[in-house]
Amino acid sequence: MDYYELLGVAKSASADEIKSAYRKLALKYHPDRNKEAGAAEKFTQINEAYAVLSDAEKRAHYDRFGTAPGAGMPGGDPFGGMGGAGFDPMDIFEQLFGGAVGGRTRRGPARGDDLETEAHISLLQARAGEEIEVTVDRLRECEHCHGSRSEPGGKPPKTCATCAGAGAVRAQARTIFGIVETQQPCPTCRGEGQIIEDPCTVCKGRGRTLKADTVKVKLPKGIDEGYRIRVAGMGNEGPGGNGDLYVHIEMEPHPDLRREQEHLIHTARIGFAKAALGGQLTVPTLDGPQVIEVKAGTQHGDLHRLAGQGMPRLQGRGNGDLIVEYEIAVPKPSQLSTEAREALLAYARAMGDEVNDRQESLFDKVGKIFHGK
Ligand SMILES: [Zn+2]
Ligand SMILES: [Zn+2]
Repeated sequence: MDYYELLGVAKSASADEIKSAYRKLALKYHPDRNKEAGAAEKFTQINEAYAVLSDAEKRAHYDRFGTAPGAGMPGGDPFGGMGGAGFDPMDIFEQLFGGAVGGRTRRGPARGDDLETEAHISLLQARAGEEIEVTVDRLRECEHCHGSRSEPGGKPPKTCATCAGAGAVRAQARTIFGIVETQQPCPTCRGEGQIIEDPCTVCKGRGRTLKADTVKVKLPKGIDEGYRIRVAGMGNEGPGGNGDLYVHIEMEPHPDLRREQEHLIHTARIGFAKAALGGQLTVPTLDGPQVIEVKAGTQHGDLHRLAGQGMPRLQGRGNGDLIVEYEIAVPKPSQLSTEAREALLAYARAMGDEVNDRQESLFDKVGKIFHGK
């Protein structure tokens, strides 16, 4: 699902263009107005797109990772329950249209924000599906006031006079659908129902403080770069529940192995003689060095497959392969001993191959430098 395509805007679209495109589509597909099949789903999609593209940070994230914070994982959602949590299309719609359209009111106290962090993992950790730890700064209940926001022993909070403690007031709103009676959060107490008279000195009346926390994250076997893992409830704490933590996976490069999805690739440079005659070669694998047999007549670019020695498949059974990709190394003149050179000349004569049989002299080298060749 391409968010830009969904809203019908260019990747370079300005914030205003995005907002205007969203407004038109949201009104067209709003479930109260459009009863056609698929309209509700479309409405959810365009709201998701707008939630991401209207937020500079989330948009940059989307442009970089190709995924939205809070949405599913690329290539589906192989681990179940990792996508879309806490996303409510009505929230965005209400923000933009003043909360009255659709006749719904905000419910209860706010949930804590979702948090994001990155984890750098090795191929071995990804293969094993290890449990790793990440450190994240989370807003958590203030230990001094236990989240009450009032200074312990100080003046207790008083009930809000505007809403009589209900947290909400009735209001009439003019909307594109006519005049609608709605409930809105009380403007005096911002929906809390009470006024803090003596705010906690530690959290300044916020009820929460920022604390570093270590969070355990179980890696799904075979996880790869670009995926995110949702750890439910490990975002910020809030009066209406905790947000979630999203952990972005970054793979640490391996010195000898390159990953291509479930396969691992090792480029092995072998000499011409070994390629022609065959022989043994030691290659790196995730379980340590392994000796393989190079076939006689191996060509540049030939592959040697070690079945099942790659990474576990995320969405299926079994493992990928470790693929050895051969490169034939041709020696530079400086790498040829006199003996090796003689042997090569003898080989060329035997094959009827016409070659330069004069060794490059110092005079030739100086000449090349002079003439810039
Ligand atoms: Zn406090
Ligand atoms: Zn109030």
